[in-house]
Amino acid sequence: MVVIKSSQEIDTMRKCGRILVAVLDRLRSEIRPGMRTDELDIIMAEEAEKRGVIPSFKNYRGFPANLCVSVNDEIVHGIPGERRLEEGDIVSLDAGVTLDGFCTDAAITIGVGQISKEAEKLISVTEGALQAGVAQAVCGAQVCDISSAIQCNVESHGFSVVREYTGHGVGRDLHEEPQIPNFVAGKGLVLRNGMTLAIEPMVNAGDWRTKLAANKWTVLTADGSLSAHFEHTIAITGDEAEILA
Ligand code: MG
Repeated sequence: MVVIKSSQEIDTMRKCGRILVAVLDRLRSEIRPGMRTDELDIIMAEEAEKRGVIPSFKNYRGFPANLCVSVNDEIVHGIPGERRLEEGDIVSLDAGVTLDGFCTDAAITIGVGQISKEAEKLISVTEGALQAGVAQAVCGAQVCDISSAIQCNVESHGFSVVREYTGHGVGRDLHEEPQIPNFVAGKGLVLRNGMTLAIEPMVNAGDWRTKLAANKWTVLTADGSLSAHFEHTIAITGDEAEILA
């Protein structure tokens, strides 16, 4: 069931989203070659505590960390650990925080030091596809309008969208209905004021197919190509998309 939020509930999500943006800004500023990915997990925990929010991913369906850190051919659900970031890597940070019973969810992909031209293009196309998708999230449009904008944008640059993982409703729960695929899969429901959605293109430089790592969490590109991920939590207010995080 789609959960329509009241204006007070959306206001709580605004506060929650502003905190998440600040936390992601801090994480972004810390990225450097040589750092271990679990250093980012520690920073996430510290920032959340300092700002009075709870990291939403920790223990969600058993996820063992405070945020997802996915490097290069890792698409999503990377588990922070001993791996050290290297010059030329790209790293996707996906995080959610919960405030007063409401959560917001966002992701960014960042280059570590100097990155290849292809990696730069992949990051900018993915971010652009997210913006194109968000622009379609208006009252009266359908979920497929978001999906189509993302898919067309990505494929026009020769990249592919991941199909097994999708955006979603968000707010009272980390994952609510509806699903927001990044490719056209039927029309989907009509968007209304008060819906809160996580729109999140996952884009592969090569083929769209994925595989699961031995840890049963981390999703990788099947062909070993690079992957990027950007995500906003938005609310449909005043008939238009308002970016919350
Ligand atoms: Mg999400």
